[in-house]
Amino acid sequence: MEIPEELVRMLGTAERVAVLTGAGISAESGIPTFREAQTGLWAKYDPQELATPQAFQRNPRLVWEWYAWRRELVGGAEPNKGHIALAEMERKILQFTLITQNVDGLHQIAGSQNVLELHGNIRRTKCSREGVAVETWEESGEAPPRCPDCGSYLRPDVVWFGEGLPEEILLQANQVAQASHVFFSIGTSAVVYPAAALPMQARRNGAVIVEVNPVETPLTPDADFVLRAAAGEALPALVKRMMDEILDC
Ligand code: NAD
Repeated sequence: MEIPEELVRMLGTAERVAVLTGAGISAESGIPTFREAQTGLWAKYDPQELATPQAFQRNPRLVWEWYAWRRELVGGAEPNKGHIALAEMERKILQFTLITQNVDGLHQIAGSQNVLELHGNIRRTKCSREGVAVETWEESGEAPPRCPDCGSYLRPDVVWFGEGLPEEILLQANQVAQASHVFFSIGTSAVVYPAAALPMQARRNGAVIVEVNPVETPLTPDADFVLRAAAGEALPALVKRMMDEILDC
């Protein structure tokens, strides 16, 4: 894959780099995007209708079981070359922040340290009433299980459609985007707000925008560089070029 020389040079001097990732970066780990998840057992359900507070109120068992299926998929998945390349890139940049819309935790498993999770993490569970994280509960066979403290249903610690994003994390993501010299948008369709606003905030503050996606998105016309390939191909190639540049100096 051809990596633009100018981009490599810019990354060599950039002190603050921010990255936004979406479901596309985990596709090569075998985790389906929402669109791809509409297969098999779940083909008759629209994920956008399962991942809402209303769906949980209407049919808590169905929603819990859908997440149990997704949690199992995620539990068996491993980080791919794209995740690993981003963890390597972090080690070469002075201030590097990875902002992710994904809930699979694969960036951290790949070794990324500075990660802001905008949509929570499917590996965590919380009380549906108090919102506090719960690590252990009694398996009574009931689905969903109950909070050991207050007896309310437990739910996945993810942000559902129609819910607000964690305020402190969103604030940090905005600050990081605005302060970045280079901003990457990777494997995201760049249409789900407020995450989709981050690249434009970065751009307005003078950042160079890089898109990594096999297909065009609404962000493409505003990107300074477009790597039109899968993240697992483009990112290792980019990091290798960064390494070569460091060795050349
Ligand atoms: P999305 O809107 O982020 O779209 C996926 C994008 O990835 C598309 O633009 C697609 O062209 C691109 N893509 C596909 N394969 C790629 C690859 N190999 N390399 C780079 N790009 C690739 O994702 P969505 O599925 O519409 O999900 C919306 C929201 O649902 C997410 O923001 C997330 O919160 C949640 N979700 C998370 C996961 C996860 O944690 N892995 C999976 C599904 C959905």
